[in-house]
Amino acid sequence: AEPRLVAARGSRITPTLILIVIRDITERERVEQMRRDFVSNTSHELKTPVGAIMLLSEAIESAADDPDQVRDFARRLHGEAGRLSSLTSRVMNLSRLQSADELAEVRDVSVDAVVTSALEAHALTAESAGVALVRGGTRGLTVRGDQQILSEALGNLVSNAVAYSPRGSQVGIGVKEEAGTVEIAVTDRGIGISEEDQQRVFERFYRSDQARSRRTGGTGLGLAIVKHAVQRHGGEVRLWSRLGQGSTFTIQLPLAAAETGAIRTEPREK
Ligand code: ADP
Repeated sequence: AEPRLVAARGSRITPTLILIVIRDITERERVEQMRRDFVSNTSHELKTPVGAIMLLSEAIESAADDPDQVRDFARRLHGEAGRLSSLTSRVMNLSRLQSADELAEVRDVSVDAVVTSALEAHALTAESAGVALVRGGTRGLTVRGDQQILSEALGNLVSNAVAYSPRGSQVGIGVKEEAGTVEIAVTDRGIGISEEDQQRVFERFYRSDQARSRRTGGTGLGLAIVKHAVQRHGGEVRLWSRLGQGSTFTIQLPLAAAETGAIRTEPREK
């Protein structure tokens, strides 16, 4: 209704201006729609662990006489609470990344430190999943940005690679310098992603059927966070994958301006 009002009132308003107004309204509606979807998806996703926590806490109460059952329910309660906690912190991180706010901490960030902290964060999970994390490539590179956000983004890729890989396989984390940028690649030999799903996995809350049937712990927010985090740093994420063979996710970031030749300490793994 708004654009018509503008056209009717303003005799001096040119078609171009009307077009701009319409476009602006469409953009505002799109953003508003995205916000509504985000809120409704989030509420929907929160319902599952909250519902489970309610049921389990009731069950603990009524199983008070049976210590084994109490322990079992308590363990599951703890699991659901953990899921709720990771979901809420991911939602908060994502909404911060999507907002127009400046990144809080922009400084020179060592790529080595980002890789180290992403690997450390998931070392235990990898170990218990029987997946070896293999690090390689160029050392000593620097980017500009927020170290915590970058570590979390890379950590999400490592965590997915581990989660969607078979026991006994390897996940490679390689760094290389490429025409003024740094490429951090995470490669797995896991379940892979169909071409159709490759178009969608970076969407919030999207999970492939394979992922849903394989693992209940996922939130479908990890890759959306990766995408926004990397974009906020002026970089991009690329995905190569083949169903049943494995995937490579590559984060490409601009090198810090003062970056000169890096020290090559280890060969990049294949
Ligand atoms: P989730 O919490 O479900 O892992 P993500 O946003 O991190 O959510 O990933 C979205 C979906 O992309 C996953 O549910 C899965 O279908 C697919 N995916 C992501 N990483 C991989 C991978 N390394 N191998 C296979 N599938 C993956």
